[in-house]
Amino acid sequence: MQAIDFHCDTLSRLREAEREGRPQSFSHNDFHIDLDKLKRGGYLMQCFAAFVYLGDRECSPLASALEQIDIFYRIMDQYPDAIRQVRNCEDLEQARREGKIGAMLTVEEGGACLGSIGVLNTLYRLGVRIMTLTWNFENELAYPNRMPGRVPGIVKSEAETEHGLKEKGFAFVEEMERLGMIVDVSHLSDAGFWDVARHAARPFIASHSNARAVCGHVRNLTDDMLRAVAEKGGITGINYCAAFLDGREDEENCFGTVAQMADHIEHIRQVGGLDMIALGSDFDGIGDNLELKDCSMVPLLADELHRRHYSDDAIEQIFSGNALRLFRDTLR
Ligand SMILES: [Zn+2]
Repeated sequence: MQAIDFHCDTLSRLREAEREGRPQSFSHNDFHIDLDKLKRGGYLMQCFAAFVYLGDRECSPLASALEQIDIFYRIMDQYPDAIRQVRNCEDLEQARREGKIGAMLTVEEGGACLGSIGVLNTLYRLGVRIMTLTWNFENELAYPNRMPGRVPGIVKSEAETEHGLKEKGFAFVEEMERLGMIVDVSHLSDAGFWDVARHAARPFIASHSNARAVCGHVRNLTDDMLRAVAEKGGITGINYCAAFLDGREDEENCFGTVAQMADHIEHIRQVGGLDMIALGSDFDGIGDNLELKDCSMVPLLADELHRRHYSDDAIEQIFSGNALRLFRDTLR
């Protein structure tokens, strides 16, 4: 079963390792994702996020994004026989024909653009096709959901329902749709989500978020949100992070299992339909308290869905079919 994964933080891990003077190979490393593991997991395409941490005082948000995009391009140069950059549906089709793994650039943190539409356009030219409007910080575009643990007294379920998109955020949504860059609402506040849902003319996605009814974390989507994503033809990528899968309030003891992933999938199927379900592992951005130890083990999820009597077609839709439809509907 070939897989398309909407979100990982491997570029950020590789950059960190370089900065610390112990560079890691993309072909084989100790992270959740490397080339060997992607091959073993049967990947059709992996999205690679340039993750920008706005708390970093030593590096500008744009430089941080560009350094990770540089790593991405170096990987493409180094392994041309194994991996191919995907900017549009033809690229992905070609990667499939050539038996290569597709690789799509994304950005996690709209603040990377410094509020500039020109920067956004340039990131698009570099191949960025998906961008979250926020990570966990307020930026020029919008407000994120408040994360438990970061703000004292905030619990898993306390969503930001007042502060959504700023004026520039609305302008960015319009420009991203004009370009054919997919708006990603993962990490965005609930109020921001509804601003996007009301304002977007094109399908938008939550690249790595689960169902809040199953696990009451603000990073997950409520049933109304799931329906709103589905109505616009978007997807949500199932996040493998234990804290977003496991309903337990105390995050320390959470453990992410394929059974929990299947529970989220089943709930989302009932609420928003099968067509909106995809994969958004969050690998290399999450802990190791996971049954899926790395990306080579993703077939275990297909096994679990088989056990629950999902048809081959349904599993294929979740693993890649819905993603392919979304790309046909959004990319230029
Ligand atoms: Zn994230």
